[in-house]
Amino acid sequence: MRRILNTHLTRRYLVALGFIAVLSCSAYTVTHDLIRTQATNAAVINISGRQRMLSQKAVLLSQELVHSIGTSSQQNIKLQLVETANLIEKSHNGLIKGDPVMNLPGSPTDEIRSTYFSEPVLLDQRVKNFVRELRALAKPGSPSSTDQHLEYILNEGKSNLLNSFDLVVRQYQKESEAEVEKLKNAETAILVLTLLVLLLEALFVFRPMVKSIMLDRQELSDTNEHLSRLSSLDGLTGIPNRRSFDEFLNREWQRALRNHTPLTVIMADIDFFKAYNDTYGHQEGDECLKRVAGALMECCNRPGDLVSRYGGEEFAAVLGDTKMKGAACVAERMRSRVESLKISHIGSKISDFVTISLGVGVIIPTGEVSPAALVKTADLALYQAKNAGRNRVVTLKTKNYFEEE
Ligand code: GH3
Ligand code: MG
Ligand code: MG
Repeated sequence: MRRILNTHLTRRYLVALGFIAVLSCSAYTVTHDLIRTQATNAAVINISGRQRMLSQKAVLLSQELVHSIGTSSQQNIKLQLVETANLIEKSHNGLIKGDPVMNLPGSPTDEIRSTYFSEPVLLDQRVKNFVRELRALAKPGSPSSTDQHLEYILNEGKSNLLNSFDLVVRQYQKESEAEVEKLKNAETAILVLTLLVLLLEALFVFRPMVKSIMLDRQELSDTNEHLSRLSSLDGLTGIPNRRSFDEFLNREWQRALRNHTPLTVIMADIDFFKAYNDTYGHQEGDECLKRVAGALMECCNRPGDLVSRYGGEEFAAVLGDTKMKGAACVAERMRSRVESLKISHIGSKISDFVTISLGVGVIIPTGEVSPAALVKTADLALYQAKNAGRNRVVTLKTKNYFEEE
């Protein structure tokens, strides 16, 4: 179920990323187009405006030519006239056919095309005639003020051609503004769409995804906790195991070492348990172990206490910050609690019921001894309890404990 949910989410996540990618590419394309259009429009309007300026310059040069005296001065003006005619022609061709050097795309729109090629403006023809007349005026010889080429140039250059150029520039400007407006609208639409998609993705993709991740994390930490609990508990009785005992004893040892407080270990062992198994069977033996474990657990409930199954039918308890008197008291409580369970044990040589023997070891930890010494002391006490007849508590203090007390 969880895997299906995750696959579903992954697919949705990929689709969400796809949407963002498409929108980002669209935004890039629109912005790119916008910049390019603005640059091209600027170039077109600039060249169109220059045509106007060149035609005025041609008019001035033509007037200067007819009034100039001297061949060399006339020659110089004619050269400028031809140059201006060439420039007008070049720009004109660029505007109609395109010119990459001048950043002119060519292919004008139908409206502009009609200004160039249709009545009443016929700008294309007008420019060509104007250029032709400029070149004719620049031919060898001295033109007079009544020259027909000059007349044409002055007529066209002062009004008709200028007005036509103005018309074209205005049209270019209008189209450029419309184009920029269109792209700006597209940009706004993409921005709104992107925000909308992000909102929907946040609601329907990322939120469920985060929830699922949190759930997985919780499950994982629950499982980890469960596993670590399992690894620290005894499988049969459910109380802490030998590993927990060792860890707890080391921790308490360090604390007692720091605080200079006494530390106790109680070792408990079921009496004649082999005989119990032999009489009642292993399964009953297991049940007995569980009940004894439960009884021992009930006797220690301070935070510094731990009861564990040490192995087989042996149990071990650690009592932090507990002196000999208190420890003996706890051990006696354990003994009598087990006895009071009244678990029949006909194989026992000392009682009709299951009993335990206990050895108590107490120490005030120092740097010279280790926790193992305390366990050894408790073991020795247990051995003495067994030897003394079982079903009893024997306490032993370590040498330094005597000194401290
Ligand atoms: P003593 O009074 O001297 O302690 O005698 P005892 O018979 O209790 O001691 P011994 O060490 O001879 O026998 C311990 C028995 O505990 C042997 C073993 O079969 C039994 N035992 C150890 N672990 C388990 C267990 O998990 N389940 C069961 N049913 N029996 C166990
Ligand atoms: Mg034993
Ligand atoms: Mg035993």
